Amino acid sequence: MSDEKLILAVPKGRILDELLPLLAACDIQPEADFFEKDSRKLRFETNHPDLDIIRVRAFDAATFTAFGAAHLGVAGNDVIEEFEYEGIYAPVDLGIGQCRLSVAMPKEEAAQDDPRRWSHIRVATKYPHLTRKHFAARGVQAECIKLSGAMELAPSMGLARRIVDLVSTGSTLKANGLVEVDKILDVSARLIVSRKALKTMPGQMQRWIDIFREGAGV
Ligand code: ADP
Ligand code: MG
Repeated sequence: MSDEKLILAVPKGRILDELLPLLAACDIQPEADFFEKDSRKLRFETNHPDLDIIRVRAFDAATFTAFGAAHLGVAGNDVIEEFEYEGIYAPVDLGIGQCRLSVAMPKEEAAQDDPRRWSHIRVATKYPHLTRKHFAARGVQAECIKLSGAMELAPSMGLARRIVDLVSTGSTLKANGLVEVDKILDVSARLIVSRKALKTMPGQMQRWIDIFREGAGV
């Protein structure tokens, strides 16, 4: 029985640079076009006849995999936990894309603020589900304004006094006069797999899960 063609969905954003050495360690060599950032191509062959790669937005890598349109994918647990897709299983922590999801607000306001006294707050974020859940557990009602990027602008523009966003070094927050006041989640990139694919072709899927586990050194 010959193997079916599998699709690996990789995010084209920030994780990709750190993912390239990992793909090499897994002996996955995408065709040359894949490395050209300006290429309009979205699907690429690899040195493995049974594996193609698609390059999509980070949130979309999870969506393609959740619906079984991609068999494997790479996504941060920020994305995985924001969606809570039932069709996804995340068996391997790849150890790349490390950052944290945090609450931030203007430095001078934070100095006189006590988060324990919040009851209703407004937050600009790309993560409304995780944000509401985090605050609800503390008895705080969070009204979320959904943005796709540049959350750091929201406080100074009067959109929301607080934001929930990914932080790694903190330099973007600092450049915008914001400070971290609370951490919601530690984040790293995971190998995600489609539960449907795992059920229909367990052997072939497990082989790729083992390859990623070994490549990531875990
Ligand atoms: P997009 O612009 O497509 O929404 P990003 O490249 O901004 O995607 O982020 C994609 C993923 O990369 C995030 O979901 C997160 O898991 C990870 N990530 C984002 N920002 C950082 C960061 N500062 N440091 C490390 N990983 C990050
Ligand atoms: Mg981005």
